[in-house]
Amino acid sequence: MTPNTDRNQQLFERARQRIPGGVNSPVRAFRAVGGTPRFVQRAQGAYFWDANGQRYIDYIGSWGPMILGHGHPAVLEAVQKAAVEGFSFGAPTEREIELAEAICERVPSVEMVRLVSSGTEAAMSALRLARGFTGRPKIIKFEGCYHGHADALLVKAGSGLATFGNPTSAGVPPEVVQHTLVLEYNNVAQLEEAFALHGKDIACLMIEPIAGNMNFVRAQVDFMKRCRELCTQHGALLVFDEVMTGFRVALGGAQSVYAKQIPGFAPDMTVMGKVIGGGMPLAAFGGARAVMEQLAPLGPVYQAGTLSGNPVATACGLATLKEISKPGFYETLGASTRSLVDGLKAAAARQGVGFSADCEGGMFGFFLLPELPQNYGAVMKSDSPAFNRLFHGLLDRGVYIAPALYEAGFVSAAHTAQDIAETVAAAEAVFAAR
Ligand SMILES: *Cc1c(COP(=O)(O)O)cnc(C)c1O
Repeated sequence: MTPNTDRNQQLFERARQRIPGGVNSPVRAFRAVGGTPRFVQRAQGAYFWDANGQRYIDYIGSWGPMILGHGHPAVLEAVQKAAVEGFSFGAPTEREIELAEAICERVPSVEMVRLVSSGTEAAMSALRLARGFTGRPKIIKFEGCYHGHADALLVKAGSGLATFGNPTSAGVPPEVVQHTLVLEYNNVAQLEEAFALHGKDIACLMIEPIAGNMNFVRAQVDFMKRCRELCTQHGALLVFDEVMTGFRVALGGAQSVYAKQIPGFAPDMTVMGKVIGGGMPLAAFGGARAVMEQLAPLGPVYQAGTLSGNPVATACGLATLKEISKPGFYETLGASTRSLVDGLKAAAARQGVGFSADCEGGMFGFFLLPELPQNYGAVMKSDSPAFNRLFHGLLDRGVYIAPALYEAGFVSAAHTAQDIAETVAAAEAVFAAR
């Protein structure tokens, strides 16, 4: 027997002894694609190196936060300086105000914001606030959208619109999701029916405006317009979950993309995370002043956090926001992402592979499907063995994409034209070897 010299494999076996499944977040375990997860040793710019010292071009970037690439010097300097000043105080700091001001300045629908530590926490708190503000129990979410793992949001569609959803996780009692209505993404008729049936009881509609947790599916403009109209008409809050898209697809988030196509468009509340922490545990939720003032200590809706607004995390977030606010940042990032998507499409076409892809700013998605899907059911028609072959083919060639076909991809400012060209060449080689 040959001794096992794969350090990723060794670490995975060791991890599984003490960490359920060997990972601290399920998708990292490669269950969808099979094989051994890569244990990251270090990262720099657009690359990370695994435990065997193998280099990968990184298209996950910590699932979005690393928009500047890894170890950006200005961000590193800000974090080092903040760490020396203190890790955590449990008392307010000026940097929290600076970050709140920076967010409000860039996202006009956000008049006030509260900082928390994870997207899950932000979405859960936004939901409570929407219910507290409206005094209503019911919420709408869409199949294929992910808003973190709060109990009320771990739901799949029930048998019809009159019935509410079923839990997608053990440990969530049906009563906890009885007020969560799960609808099909981009389905206007269903949306209208849901509001007609339940409108007066709906506290909020929560949506990923560009859904990155079913790969990459845009809410169609007409659908989004209807979401806004129906929420306004029925007194429900429109909550944008921009944990992934915020500061990723544009400086003003996906809402700025829709505002270009729907005059005056804005959500009532926005949930943020990922990029605003620049890789540190930091997230936020914000919105109209009248809504946000319902939060404790001003109002009756309770919400708190020991590490909320952490001084090292806020330093990292602020330094990241400063860099991405420089003129031309999103033009360059968007062009780079577009060149990847166009390159992949052309490679697939040359090799006769059914392929579709889309992108916005530094976020992209592709499908081994001839047409871009418009909802979760259509995404799940993707050929998963073919995706898994592509995933492993790319991995073997030093390109790391998300290890599941329902996840989006991310390009950073550190990715060069050379990195993109290498990636496209790797994909074409995999397509050709089918
Ligand atoms: C990642 C994500 C979350 C959850 O954020 P965590 O920080 O992982 O808890 C919520 N909503 C969306 C849209 C996300 O992409």
